[in-house]
Amino acid sequence: MSAEDQKIKLKRHFSKRVTTQARIVLDSWQKLMDHGFQDNAWFDEFAQSVDKLKKFALRFELENYIGASNAIVTTLATATVDRGQVRPEDSVKIDAALEQLRHIVQRKSDTNDATGQRVYVRTPIFIAFSDEDAAERIMRQMDFFGFRASCYRTEEELISASQLNKPETIVIDVNFCDEKNKGIRTIEKIQATHDTPIPVIYTCDDGDIETRLAAVRSGGEEFFHLAVDPGQLIEKIEQYTAASTQDPYRVLVLDDSRAQSKFIENALVKAGMITYVINDPMQILIALDDFLPEIIILDMYMPGCTGMELAKVIRQQDRLHSVPIIYLSAEDDLNKQLHAMSLGGDDFLTKPIDPKHLTATIHNRGRRARSLLALMIRDSLTGLFNHTHTLYLLEAEISKSKHREQPLCFVMIDIDYFKSVNDTYGHPIGDRVLKSLAMFLKQRLRKSDHIGRYGGEEFAIVLPNTSGEDAKTLLNEIREHFSKMKQPAGTTEFQVTFSCGIAAFSGEHAQLLNEKADKALYEAKHSGRNAVRMYTDTAPPCP
Ligand code: GH3
Ligand code: MG
Ligand code: MG
Repeated sequence: MSAEDQKIKLKRHFSKRVTTQARIVLDSWQKLMDHGFQDNAWFDEFAQSVDKLKKFALRFELENYIGASNAIVTTLATATVDRGQVRPEDSVKIDAALEQLRHIVQRKSDTNDATGQRVYVRTPIFIAFSDEDAAERIMRQMDFFGFRASCYRTEEELISASQLNKPETIVIDVNFCDEKNKGIRTIEKIQATHDTPIPVIYTCDDGDIETRLAAVRSGGEEFFHLAVDPGQLIEKIEQYTAASTQDPYRVLVLDDSRAQSKFIENALVKAGMITYVINDPMQILIALDDFLPEIIILDMYMPGCTGMELAKVIRQQDRLHSVPIIYLSAEDDLNKQLHAMSLGGDDFLTKPIDPKHLTATIHNRGRRARSLLALMIRDSLTGLFNHTHTLYLLEAEISKSKHREQPLCFVMIDIDYFKSVNDTYGHPIGDRVLKSLAMFLKQRLRKSDHIGRYGGEEFAIVLPNTSGEDAKTLLNEIREHFSKMKQPAGTTEFQVTFSCGIAAFSGEHAQLLNEKADKALYEAKHSGRNAVRMYTDTAPPCP
């Protein structure tokens, strides 16, 4: 091996160590958030992990990590820690600095990570089965989908692992360790040590009403028959995983009183929400465009105009039709409240506001608004964006890419010989394959990538800030993994492949970029399927 090769190899090796350290930083921040700042030990651990990251980054000259760790160190230095508590504003700042780090860790091309896979920062899923074969099977499948799962065989192991690292979901046998209802008893012990319950999926061959009730009381979200195919179980796991990692709500607050708006902002930030505060009603249009809120809190009475008038202005814009508006006022005249609501408001909070009541209202309204929005923009079978919304996202990302002068790729995927899957195994199994590809893509792609179901067995992906070469490597890796995945069908299994076309953005309109990806897909099909093709100007046009 030449000296140059040796150097590259070493650098790769060390960049992996830096990536690992970066993940430790992110993990310890998560732990700090879980445990609160009361305990200085967690804060110290976090600060030390950042320090170590900075040292590694400097030693191995990894510019992006040096930048990210410097940003965290600087914010930490200015953060005010008062009786073991970091002020909410500071914790938001630290989180913003960490976001930079998350970004780098997720980007394989920047880190020279030799593992060839995108790196995910996610909390693990714990599996606790009596049947070792079943555990083995599930672990294999989960691995394919890119979940981070670990398996436990005894109560002690499971409990101590849960204390060390709060899992995202636990999948456990009701009769864990072959002992009746031991799974439920173990979960009760684990839940008692956490502030917020961990979602639990129980598996069992049968279960009387008493068992099922005990399961529900201990946080059991699902009761699953193990004989059912693992695909369905994984789908459930994905559902709970996705629900618990939901983005924070974006709340716009308009109140002419600075003290009042500060109070609201603090309460919301503490509850993990993102806020944007304005005190001047005349700034509302700019704020709406700038921030794209999911929920709006409006003071009822302000100088210059009333909250009701503003609500009407907001509702005149189509895209803001379903954004919940919550009024704030000292008004407790029910008639006046009802009148205000009839003018486009959704809820009414009376001052003085109880922070708990405030955050609960936002959560309820936010959840409902999101599920309504999902009905409009998502495909019901796969949960991916529908055709219209995917195109909308493509257009939005194109304009961002131009603005930021970043690359962008548009990808089209079509399952090979899907008709024969339906013909051989039936339509429901066909649907299952579509879902499994959807889930697979969700697990393998970044959060900032947009995945849509374009039509029947066609999918489209928008990859912001990704070069053509990176997109090709990534999609090839996904194609290869997916083609190896076993698709269960009753007592047998089969494999499915897909073809893929990629077009790298070069200044054209969304429609043309779309056609280019479609041409590349056609090429891939013609080359014999199970292939990824890039669009080039020399590609033959569609017949
Ligand atoms: P090719 O490799 O050329 O893409 O062949 P293909 O069989 O995949 O393509 P073709 O376009 O001939 O067939 C697509 C099939 O996809 C036909 C249709 O019945 C099936 N399909 C479309 N939407 C759904 C769906 O929602 N569920 C199921 N199960 N099948 C669907
Ligand atoms: Mg097809
Ligand atoms: Mg097709």
